[in-house]
Amino acid sequence: MRIFPALLVLTLPGAGAALAQQNPGFDVKYLDRSVDPCVNFYKFSCGGWMAANPLPPDQARFGRFDALQDRNREILRNFLEAAMVDKAGRTALEQKIGDMYAACMDEKTIAAKGIAPLKPDLDRIAALMDRKQLAELAASLFRMGTPVFFTFSSEQDAKDSTKEIAGLDQGGLGLPDRDYYFKTDPTSVMLRKQYVEHVTRMFELLGTPSAEAAPKAQAVMAIETALADGSFDRITRRDPEKVYHKMTVKELTAMAPAFDWNAFFKSVGAPSIQSLDVSVPPFVKAFNTVIEKTSLDDLRAYLTWRLVRANAPLLPEAFVQENFNFYAKILRGQKEMRPRWKRCVDLVDGQLPDALGKIFVQKTLGEQGKQRTQKMVAEIERALAADIMSLDWMSPKTKHEAMVKLHAIANKIGDKAHWLDYANVKIARDDALGDSARASAFELARQLGKIGKPVDKTDWQMSQPTVNAYYDAQENDVNFPAGILQPPFYDNKMDDAVNYGAIGAVIGHELTHGFDDQGRQFDAKGNLRDWWTEADAKAFKERADCLVKQYDGYVAVDEVHVSGKLTLGENTADNGGLRLAYRALMDSLAGKEPAPIDGFTAQQRFFLGFAQIWCENETPESKRQLALINPHAPAEYRVNGAISNMPEFRGAFGCKEGQPMAPVLSCRVW
Ligand SMILES: [Zn+2]
Repeated sequence: MRIFPALLVLTLPGAGAALAQQNPGFDVKYLDRSVDPCVNFYKFSCGGWMAANPLPPDQARFGRFDALQDRNREILRNFLEAAMVDKAGRTALEQKIGDMYAACMDEKTIAAKGIAPLKPDLDRIAALMDRKQLAELAASLFRMGTPVFFTFSSEQDAKDSTKEIAGLDQGGLGLPDRDYYFKTDPTSVMLRKQYVEHVTRMFELLGTPSAEAAPKAQAVMAIETALADGSFDRITRRDPEKVYHKMTVKELTAMAPAFDWNAFFKSVGAPSIQSLDVSVPPFVKAFNTVIEKTSLDDLRAYLTWRLVRANAPLLPEAFVQENFNFYAKILRGQKEMRPRWKRCVDLVDGQLPDALGKIFVQKTLGEQGKQRTQKMVAEIERALAADIMSLDWMSPKTKHEAMVKLHAIANKIGDKAHWLDYANVKIARDDALGDSARASAFELARQLGKIGKPVDKTDWQMSQPTVNAYYDAQENDVNFPAGILQPPFYDNKMDDAVNYGAIGAVIGHELTHGFDDQGRQFDAKGNLRDWWTEADAKAFKERADCLVKQYDGYVAVDEVHVSGKLTLGENTADNGGLRLAYRALMDSLAGKEPAPIDGFTAQQRFFLGFAQIWCENETPESKRQLALINPHAPAEYRVNGAISNMPEFRGAFGCKEGQPMAPVLSCRVW
């Protein structure tokens, strides 16, 4: 489930303003011609777009990905509004998606019910009188979509990619990252205080008297801080060897004897297991200490908090507002809540992805769209093959292995071989919270059902309407959902140069992930196995370190720098992907020089097509948050970082060495 899908962008809930305008692959109106392209190419390419698209108040970050996601969301809304009409002749699928959407939209019923839908679980938590009951209680919360303390699911075995095994990982935190619990800068200290206040108010909304709510929130903070202390940071977690610890259930029990693991596995619905991957052993030890040392009162407070946090979006308005206030307003600087329909469309897309995705693919992705993407993937694979063969720092032995891996990469484009069947998920139009719990239970059972079985490579890790893409190191495949195969990424009204710069660079990005600092550790079959000679690995690391230093130098906001180590894989993919797409464009032009369009040569339009997919506006709060948790660099540096490493860019725009976009020292991995 969790481990190594390398995404194109980090998508967070919150995207989506009403933007009915066209979304072309390239538009001269988006430029800011007062900026010299050799000084700041991102500002030159996007300044006009940024000025014309001020951040909508219901967004913390809004760019061209979000504009397209908005368009997809409008399409889904049309399906859902048609399906929600309770009339004879609805198909079973229309009933599911229509009623789930109707239930989510029905604020009146939600308000009338109050916290009654949570009551059975609140009662179960209140009845916890003995730590021995904790395993079964945790399992029952997991089943309805409230993971507590840790995460548990199936995963592909990193060292035997044919098998699905059970995986136990760190989790259970309410702040976005373990570092939020320990950073000592004034903003972080303030955020922790505001977090405790938020948890306090949520307890009050549940009916806890104020005098008791504050100590409960402090108890939550203490438990989460202890769990965070045992957790790996994001840079450590990027190393696949460090998060793979296969052990027997007996060994796990010896490591954390205070929790009845066998009872948990049985109760959560896992098949009988003898062994599993314990990704972060220090976390499991920290968890054991927490449940040994914490009072039952405090454990109950923590579980209650997890329950209300997970379900807040489907509780009455006061909960929704309080949840928004902390997670969107304080943490991300978002001024207003998104309209409810957008939240409800996203809920159905997240909870019943295949029901909505199937219709979306039928309506939006033609055979032509699939074929043209397939063709471009093949061209960029050829460019990568040529690139690998031409490297002067890699030995023939490692090159051979790299080519074997490249040729084994599978492509999944905008469709699914098998759509999930939700026949057994009961959806009722007057039970928003219950619908969500049952859909979560279905998905958890499906994931746990994989344990011990061969890997199903036809499964996807994102829904088809999603504007994103990923490379999966363990499946060794690239995945492009239907949601991204549209303008501005692929625009059939545009010349090839713009499309190679946009969707071409996206495809190149995903393919390069197979050979970034993380992906390169997996072989053609998706196994974690070192296929590099020592000298070649050393040469790779030297080149990667150049990128680490380059991106470390960029400022995200105020005193916060981009983390070159956290973003290394993505920066490697951005840089490699852009080069590969350029090479593929040049191959396709075969020496021809197309006439300039809008006053720009094909070479210039390639770089402009690339830059303009990244135009965006963002709040300072969001920049701060994403610098800590996002493995991707900010958009401005995804553009300027990659183009300034390419001599072809300097040539295209006549930049002189030493100008900001043409530094004397440049980096190249692929
Ligand atoms: Zn990526």
